[in-house]
Amino acid sequence: MSVSAATVPAIHLQGLKKSYGNGFEALKGIELRVEQGDFFALLGPNGAGKSTTIGILCSLIEKTAREVNIFGIDIDSNFAEAKQKIGVVPQEFNFNQFEKVLDIVLTQAGYYGLSTKVAKQRAENYLKSLDLWDKRNTVSRSLSGGMKRRLMIARALIHEPELLILDEPTAGVDIELRRTMWDFLRQVNKQGTTIILTTHYLEEAENLCRNIAIIDSGEIIENTSIKKLLRRLTKQTYILDTSKELKDVPSIMNFESRAIDAHSFEVDVDSSQNLNALYQQLSAIDLPIIAMRNKANRLEEMFVHLVSGPSQS
Ligand code: ADP
Ligand code: MG
Repeated sequence: MSVSAATVPAIHLQGLKKSYGNGFEALKGIELRVEQGDFFALLGPNGAGKSTTIGILCSLIEKTAREVNIFGIDIDSNFAEAKQKIGVVPQEFNFNQFEKVLDIVLTQAGYYGLSTKVAKQRAENYLKSLDLWDKRNTVSRSLSGGMKRRLMIARALIHEPELLILDEPTAGVDIELRRTMWDFLRQVNKQGTTIILTTHYLEEAENLCRNIAIIDSGEIIENTSIKKLLRRLTKQTYILDTSKELKDVPSIMNFESRAIDAHSFEVDVDSSQNLNALYQQLSAIDLPIIAMRNKANRLEEMFVHLVSGPSQS
């Protein structure tokens, strides 16, 4: 029986468990499949098991059970081959703080056996795209947090892996730089590299990724496309601002509303309701609405609901 390359997933984790030395069970049997070419988010709160999962993928952490396949290669039997296919950007800075930026990237190229010529070309290319070329002779210790993160991305890409794994790539990176980094990662994905990132910035998963798994306390509690996940969100809360001073919360038939301050209030709208009905009533009581916005990020609401909801198994 032959399996065509296209059907081989980039990552396939089956029944993955991890207990740390102190007996703590950090992963309780993870099943995860990420297809080639995907842009995938592993989303979860602190301590959920994201870094543990990634550590096992790169064989930094010893797993306690079953199989990890990377592009169909079992990492137990052929780690060296699997390793060639992965580039990793860990959560903690782990480069030599006293080494210069360009040297760090070239040293990594050496580990992967690239010729000096190719290494230099690629280093220039990636450091330029990540806006670090001007810093190439700077000792890495003196870079800002965002620059250090980008340096680790350049280093992870130097051997042009088929799979790029980033553990909280934008933690501590300011909003503007985050967007630039997102653009860069989108481009890398477009060129065919599979990307998996962990994040607890829900906006990040929503903006970048096609598919998502939500992990909580060492278990995958959701694994679907971002689109489907958002479609299932049943209730949204909107904040409305009015130019008229509110004496009371406006009572609106069939809608739940709450006061915020003298000029704003919030309204719950579920998926069976429409906003026209809301606006008609507000017009009828002559309440001019000057602005309206979502109270929370939709994915964030969904996440809170999934993690803390009483009905999940
Ligand atoms: P995340 O990356 O999602 O924040 P981690 O994978 O780092 O979570 O950690 C998952 C759980 O395992 C946490 O409860 C953490 O405290 C625990 N943990 C992580 N590393 C160790 C370790 N070396 N020894 C014991 N427990 C650990
Ligand atoms: Mg982590």
